Amino acid sequence: RRSKVSGKAEAYQFQAFDMAREQFGMETGLRRAIENGDMRLTYQPICDLATGRIVAFESLARWTDKAGQVHAPDAFIPVAEESGLIVPLGRWAIAEAARTLAAWDARSGGDCGAKFAVNLSAIQLQRDNIPVLIERALATFGLDGRRLSLELTESALVSDPDRIAGIMHALKALGTTIAMDDFGTGYSNLAYLQKLPIDVLKIDRSFITGMLVDRDKIAIVRAILSLSQALGMQTTAEGIETRELSQTLAALGCTYGQGYVYARPLEADAAYAFLAASQSA
Ligand code: C2E
Ligand code: CA
Ligand code: CA
Ligand code: CA
Repeated sequence: RRSKVSGKAEAYQFQAFDMAREQFGMETGLRRAIENGDMRLTYQPICDLATGRIVAFESLARWTDKAGQVHAPDAFIPVAEESGLIVPLGRWAIAEAARTLAAWDARSGGDCGAKFAVNLSAIQLQRDNIPVLIERALATFGLDGRRLSLELTESALVSDPDRIAGIMHALKALGTTIAMDDFGTGYSNLAYLQKLPIDVLKIDRSFITGMLVDRDKIAIVRAILSLSQALGMQTTAEGIETRELSQTLAALGCTYGQGYVYARPLEADAAYAFLAASQSA
Protein backbone atom coordinates (compact mmCIF):
# COMPACT_ATOMS: atom_id res chain seq x y z
CA ARG A 1 0.00 0.00 0.00
CA ARG A 2 1.22 3.50 -0.86
CA SER A 3 1.91 5.94 1.96
CA LYS A 4 0.16 9.29 1.94
CA VAL A 5 3.42 11.13 1.29
CA SER A 6 4.61 9.11 -1.66
CA GLY A 7 1.09 9.24 -3.05
CA LYS A 8 1.28 13.00 -3.01
CA ALA A 9 4.69 13.03 -4.68
CA GLU A 10 3.33 10.70 -7.31
CA ALA A 11 0.38 12.99 -7.87
CA TYR A 12 2.76 15.90 -8.50
CA GLN A 13 4.77 13.77 -10.87
CA PHE A 14 1.66 12.79 -12.74
CA GLN A 15 0.56 16.39 -12.96
CA ALA A 16 3.89 17.44 -14.52
CA PHE A 17 3.72 14.44 -16.81
CA ASP A 18 0.17 15.29 -17.89
CA MET A 19 1.15 18.86 -18.65
CA ALA A 20 4.14 17.75 -20.71
CA ARG A 21 1.98 15.21 -22.50
CA GLU A 22 -0.73 17.75 -23.22
CA GLN A 23 1.82 20.16 -24.61
CA PHE A 24 3.31 17.34 -26.66
CA GLY A 25 -0.15 16.32 -27.82
CA MET A 26 -0.97 19.82 -28.95
CA GLU A 27 2.42 20.13 -30.60
CA THR A 28 1.92 16.90 -32.52
CA GLY A 29 -1.60 17.90 -33.47
CA LEU A 30 -0.46 21.33 -34.54
CA ARG A 31 2.39 19.90 -36.65
CA ARG A 32 -0.06 17.59 -38.41
CA ALA A 33 -2.60 20.39 -38.84
CA ILE A 34 0.01 22.55 -40.56
CA GLU A 35 1.11 19.64 -42.77
CA ASN A 36 -2.44 18.55 -43.61
CA GLY A 37 -3.82 22.00 -44.27
CA ASP A 38 -6.21 21.98 -41.28
CA MET A 39 -5.34 25.57 -40.48
CA ARG A 40 -7.28 28.41 -41.97
CA LEU A 41 -7.40 32.17 -41.78
CA THR A 42 -10.44 34.15 -40.77
CA TYR A 43 -10.71 37.83 -41.63
CA GLN A 44 -11.96 40.66 -39.43
CA PRO A 45 -12.87 43.98 -41.06
CA ILE A 46 -11.18 47.23 -40.06
CA CYS A 47 -13.24 50.36 -40.58
CA ASP A 48 -12.18 53.92 -41.39
CA LEU A 49 -13.92 55.73 -38.52
CA ALA A 50 -14.28 59.04 -40.40
CA THR A 51 -16.02 57.55 -43.47
CA GLY A 52 -17.45 54.31 -42.08
CA ARG A 53 -15.82 52.42 -44.99
CA ILE A 54 -14.15 49.03 -44.62
CA VAL A 55 -10.52 49.58 -45.58
CA ALA A 56 -8.75 46.44 -44.37
CA PHE A 57 -9.11 42.95 -42.94
CA GLU A 58 -6.92 41.42 -40.25
CA SER A 59 -6.12 37.76 -40.90
CA LEU A 60 -6.54 35.61 -37.78
CA ALA A 61 -5.55 31.94 -37.70
CA ARG A 62 -7.96 29.16 -36.69
CA TRP A 63 -7.33 25.46 -36.25
CA THR A 64 -10.14 22.92 -36.31
CA ASP A 65 -8.86 19.53 -35.15
CA LYS A 66 -10.05 16.10 -36.30
CA ALA A 67 -12.62 15.97 -33.48
CA GLY A 68 -14.11 19.19 -34.83
CA GLN A 69 -12.87 21.29 -31.94
CA VAL A 70 -11.83 24.83 -32.88
CA HIS A 71 -8.63 26.02 -31.21
CA ALA A 72 -8.11 29.72 -30.62
CA PRO A 73 -4.72 31.23 -31.43
CA ASP A 74 -4.22 32.27 -27.81
CA ALA A 75 -3.91 28.52 -27.09
CA PHE A 76 -1.83 27.33 -30.04
CA ILE A 77 0.36 30.32 -30.97
CA PRO A 78 2.37 30.02 -27.70
CA VAL A 79 2.85 26.28 -28.37
CA ALA A 80 3.88 27.09 -31.94
CA GLU A 81 6.39 29.64 -30.64
CA GLU A 82 7.92 27.29 -28.05
CA SER A 83 8.19 24.39 -30.46
CA GLY A 84 9.48 26.35 -33.46
CA LEU A 85 6.33 25.47 -35.41
CA ILE A 86 5.68 29.21 -35.69
CA VAL A 87 8.12 29.21 -38.63
CA PRO A 88 6.09 26.91 -40.92
CA LEU A 89 2.83 28.30 -39.49
CA GLY A 90 3.92 31.88 -40.11
CA ARG A 91 5.11 31.03 -43.63
CA TRP A 92 1.78 29.44 -44.36
CA ALA A 93 -0.16 32.44 -42.97
CA ILE A 94 1.77 34.92 -45.13
CA ALA A 95 1.25 32.86 -48.29
CA GLU A 96 -2.40 32.11 -47.49
CA ALA A 97 -3.24 35.78 -46.85
CA ALA A 98 -1.50 36.84 -50.08
CA ARG A 99 -3.25 34.08 -52.05
CA THR A 100 -6.65 35.08 -50.67
CA LEU A 101 -6.12 38.78 -51.31
CA ALA A 102 -5.11 38.05 -54.92
CA ALA A 103 -8.25 35.91 -55.28
CA TRP A 104 -10.41 38.79 -53.97
CA ASP A 105 -8.75 41.17 -56.45
CA ALA A 106 -9.46 38.72 -59.28
CA ARG A 107 -13.10 38.42 -58.19
CA SER A 108 -13.54 42.20 -58.15
CA GLY A 109 -11.68 42.72 -61.44
CA GLY A 110 -8.88 44.83 -59.90
CA ASP A 111 -7.94 46.11 -56.47
CA CYS A 112 -10.74 44.80 -54.22
CA GLY A 113 -10.47 47.97 -52.14
CA ALA A 114 -9.11 46.53 -48.89
CA LYS A 115 -5.68 45.79 -47.47
CA PHE A 116 -4.84 42.67 -45.50
CA ALA A 117 -3.12 42.78 -42.13
CA VAL A 118 -0.92 39.84 -41.12
CA ASN A 119 0.31 39.15 -37.58
CA LEU A 120 4.02 38.47 -37.16
CA SER A 121 5.18 36.94 -33.90
CA ALA A 122 8.40 38.09 -32.25
CA ILE A 123 9.80 34.55 -32.41
CA GLN A 124 8.96 34.29 -36.10
CA LEU A 125 10.82 37.56 -36.75
CA GLN A 126 13.87 36.17 -34.92
CA ARG A 127 13.90 32.80 -36.61
CA ASP A 128 12.86 33.45 -40.19
CA ASN A 129 13.72 35.86 -42.98
CA ILE A 130 10.44 37.75 -43.04
CA PRO A 131 11.28 40.44 -45.64
CA VAL A 132 12.29 37.73 -48.15
CA LEU A 133 9.10 35.76 -47.42
CA ILE A 134 6.91 38.83 -47.87
CA GLU A 135 8.70 39.83 -51.07
CA ARG A 136 8.23 36.30 -52.46
CA ALA A 137 4.55 36.19 -51.51
CA LEU A 138 3.94 39.56 -53.18
CA ALA A 139 5.74 38.44 -56.35
CA THR A 140 4.04 35.02 -56.45
CA PHE A 141 0.56 36.53 -56.24
CA GLY A 142 1.26 39.73 -58.19
CA LEU A 143 0.44 42.03 -55.28
CA ASP A 144 1.67 45.54 -54.55
CA GLY A 145 3.37 45.78 -51.15
CA ARG A 146 1.02 48.61 -50.20
CA ARG A 147 -1.77 46.05 -49.94
CA LEU A 148 -0.26 44.47 -46.83
CA SER A 149 -0.04 45.70 -43.28
CA LEU A 150 2.25 43.81 -40.90
CA GLU A 151 1.40 43.74 -37.21
CA LEU A 152 4.29 43.46 -34.75
CA THR A 153 4.21 43.61 -30.98
CA GLU A 154 6.59 45.49 -28.70
CA SER A 155 8.04 42.14 -27.61
CA ALA A 156 9.63 41.92 -31.07
CA LEU A 157 11.78 44.94 -30.20
CA VAL A 158 13.23 43.55 -27.00
CA SER A 159 15.78 40.92 -28.03
CA ASP A 160 17.73 42.53 -30.87
CA PRO A 161 16.45 46.05 -31.59
CA ASP A 162 18.98 46.77 -34.36
CA ARG A 163 18.11 43.63 -36.25
CA ILE A 164 14.37 44.34 -35.93
CA ALA A 165 14.93 47.92 -37.12
CA GLY A 166 16.66 46.50 -40.21
CA ILE A 167 13.75 44.13 -40.83
CA MET A 168 11.24 46.95 -40.47
CA HIS A 169 13.11 49.14 -42.95
CA ALA A 170 13.31 46.23 -45.40
CA LEU A 171 9.53 45.74 -45.06
CA LYS A 172 8.89 49.46 -45.58
CA ALA A 173 11.03 49.30 -48.74
CA LEU A 174 8.55 46.73 -50.07
CA GLY A 175 5.76 49.26 -49.56
CA THR A 176 4.02 47.54 -46.65
CA THR A 177 2.43 49.31 -43.71
CA ILE A 178 3.78 48.54 -40.24
CA ALA A 179 1.48 48.51 -37.23
CA MET A 180 2.48 48.22 -33.58
CA ASP A 181 0.00 45.71 -32.17
CA ASP A 182 -1.39 45.67 -28.60
CA PHE A 183 0.13 49.12 -28.10
CA GLY A 184 0.35 50.13 -24.47
CA THR A 185 0.53 46.62 -23.01
CA GLY A 186 4.19 45.87 -23.71
CA TYR A 187 7.24 46.84 -21.81
CA SER A 188 7.73 50.13 -23.52
CA ASN A 189 10.57 52.46 -23.64
CA LEU A 190 8.80 54.85 -25.98
CA ALA A 191 12.08 55.99 -27.55
CA TYR A 192 11.63 53.35 -30.22
CA LEU A 193 8.66 55.26 -31.64
CA GLN A 194 10.89 57.99 -33.05
CA LYS A 195 13.50 55.59 -34.43
CA LEU A 196 11.39 52.97 -36.16
CA PRO A 197 9.26 53.25 -39.30
CA ILE A 198 5.88 52.66 -37.66
CA ASP A 199 2.73 53.76 -39.48
CA VAL A 200 -0.04 52.71 -37.12
CA LEU A 201 -0.48 52.19 -33.38
CA LYS A 202 -3.11 49.60 -32.54
CA ILE A 203 -4.60 50.54 -29.19
CA ASP A 204 -5.09 47.37 -27.19
CA ARG A 205 -8.60 46.19 -26.46
CA SER A 206 -7.96 46.34 -22.70
CA PHE A 207 -8.01 50.18 -22.91
CA ILE A 208 -11.03 50.33 -25.21
CA THR A 209 -13.32 47.99 -23.25
CA GLY A 210 -14.98 50.04 -20.52
CA MET A 211 -13.27 53.27 -21.58
CA LEU A 212 -16.59 55.18 -21.48
CA VAL A 213 -16.98 54.52 -17.77
CA ASP A 214 -13.34 54.51 -16.69
CA ARG A 215 -11.54 57.87 -16.53
CA ASP A 216 -8.12 56.24 -16.43
CA LYS A 217 -8.75 54.25 -19.58
CA ILE A 218 -10.05 57.20 -21.57
CA ALA A 219 -7.07 59.24 -20.37
CA ILE A 220 -4.72 56.57 -21.73
CA VAL A 221 -6.62 56.39 -25.02
CA ARG A 222 -6.48 60.19 -25.42
CA ALA A 223 -2.76 60.17 -24.63
CA ILE A 224 -2.08 57.49 -27.26
CA LEU A 225 -4.15 59.41 -29.82
CA SER A 226 -2.30 62.67 -29.20
CA LEU A 227 1.07 60.90 -29.19
CA SER A 228 0.34 59.26 -32.52
CA GLN A 229 -0.89 62.53 -34.02
CA ALA A 230 2.26 64.33 -32.88
CA LEU A 231 4.41 61.58 -34.41
CA GLY A 232 2.41 61.53 -37.66
CA MET A 233 1.09 58.03 -37.09
CA GLN A 234 -2.38 56.59 -37.53
CA THR A 235 -4.31 54.66 -34.90
CA THR A 236 -6.56 51.62 -34.82
CA ALA A 237 -8.76 50.92 -31.81
CA GLU A 238 -9.28 47.20 -31.17
CA GLY A 239 -12.22 45.50 -29.51
CA ILE A 240 -14.95 48.04 -30.32
CA GLU A 241 -18.16 46.32 -29.29
CA THR A 242 -20.69 49.17 -29.23
CA ARG A 243 -21.85 52.02 -31.49
CA GLU A 244 -21.23 54.46 -28.68
CA LEU A 245 -17.57 53.46 -28.47
CA SER A 246 -17.15 53.70 -32.21
CA GLN A 247 -18.71 57.19 -32.27
CA THR A 248 -16.62 58.38 -29.34
CA LEU A 249 -13.39 57.09 -30.86
CA ALA A 250 -14.25 58.74 -34.19
CA ALA A 251 -14.89 62.03 -32.38
CA LEU A 252 -11.55 61.71 -30.56
CA GLY A 253 -9.79 61.41 -33.92
CA CYS A 254 -8.89 57.74 -33.90
CA THR A 255 -8.26 56.69 -37.52
CA TYR A 256 -9.53 53.11 -37.69
CA GLY A 257 -11.74 50.79 -35.67
CA GLN A 258 -12.00 47.03 -35.35
CA GLY A 259 -14.35 44.95 -33.25
CA TYR A 260 -17.51 42.92 -32.93
CA VAL A 261 -19.69 46.01 -33.56
CA TYR A 262 -18.60 45.83 -37.22
CA ALA A 263 -18.05 42.08 -37.48
CA ARG A 264 -16.39 39.13 -35.80
CA PRO A 265 -13.55 37.41 -37.67
CA LEU A 266 -15.26 35.89 -40.74
CA GLU A 267 -14.53 32.95 -43.02
CA ALA A 268 -12.91 34.14 -46.27
CA ASP A 269 -16.06 33.94 -48.42
CA ALA A 270 -18.21 35.67 -45.81
CA ALA A 271 -15.57 38.38 -45.41
CA TYR A 272 -15.49 38.99 -49.16
CA ALA A 273 -19.30 39.23 -49.21
CA PHE A 274 -19.16 41.62 -46.25
CA LEU A 275 -16.71 43.85 -48.14
CA ALA A 276 -18.80 43.79 -51.32
CA ALA A 277 -21.98 44.63 -49.38
CA SER A 278 -20.26 47.51 -47.55
CA GLN A 279 -19.07 48.94 -50.87
CA SER A 280 -22.50 48.90 -52.47
CA ALA A 281 -24.19 50.38 -49.39
P1 C2E B 1 -4.61 40.29 -31.88
O1 C2E B 1 -3.63 40.44 -32.99
O2 C2E B 1 -4.65 41.36 -30.87
O3 C2E B 1 -6.03 40.09 -32.60
C1 C2E B 1 -7.22 40.63 -32.11
C2 C2E B 1 -7.98 39.62 -31.30
O4 C2E B 1 -9.12 40.26 -30.71
C3 C2E B 1 -8.54 38.47 -32.13
O5 C2E B 1 -8.54 37.31 -31.31
C4 C2E B 1 -9.98 38.92 -32.39
O6 C2E B 1 -10.86 37.87 -32.67
C5 C2E B 1 -10.29 39.59 -31.07
N1 C2E B 1 -11.35 40.59 -31.18
C6 C2E B 1 -11.61 41.40 -32.24
N2 C2E B 1 -12.63 42.23 -31.99
C7 C2E B 1 -13.05 41.96 -30.73
C8 C2E B 1 -14.10 42.51 -29.89
O7 C2E B 1 -14.84 43.42 -30.25
N3 C2E B 1 -14.22 41.97 -28.66
C9 C2E B 1 -13.43 40.97 -28.23
N4 C2E B 1 -13.65 40.49 -27.00
N5 C2E B 1 -12.43 40.43 -28.97
C10 C2E B 1 -12.24 40.92 -30.22
P2 C2E B 1 -8.06 35.91 -31.87
O8 C2E B 1 -8.47 35.72 -33.30
O9 C2E B 1 -8.47 34.88 -30.87
O10 C2E B 1 -6.49 36.04 -31.86
C11 C2E B 1 -5.78 36.19 -30.67
C12 C2E B 1 -4.34 36.54 -30.90
O11 C2E B 1 -3.64 35.47 -31.53
C13 C2E B 1 -4.16 37.72 -31.85
O12 C2E B 1 -4.36 38.90 -31.11
C14 C2E B 1 -2.74 37.51 -32.32
O13 C2E B 1 -1.83 38.01 -31.38
C15 C2E B 1 -2.63 36.01 -32.35
N6 C2E B 1 -2.79 35.52 -33.74
C16 C2E B 1 -3.92 35.24 -34.42
N7 C2E B 1 -3.64 34.82 -35.66
C17 C2E B 1 -2.28 34.85 -35.78
C18 C2E B 1 -1.36 34.52 -36.84
O14 C2E B 1 -1.72 34.15 -37.97
N8 C2E B 1 -0.02 34.69 -36.56
C19 C2E B 1 0.42 35.14 -35.34
N9 C2E B 1 1.75 35.27 -35.14
N10 C2E B 1 -0.41 35.44 -34.34
C20 C2E B 1 -1.76 35.31 -34.55
CA1 CA C 1 -3.07 41.81 -34.51
CA1 CA D 1 -3.93 43.47 -31.21
CA1 CA E 1 -4.78 42.32 -28.41
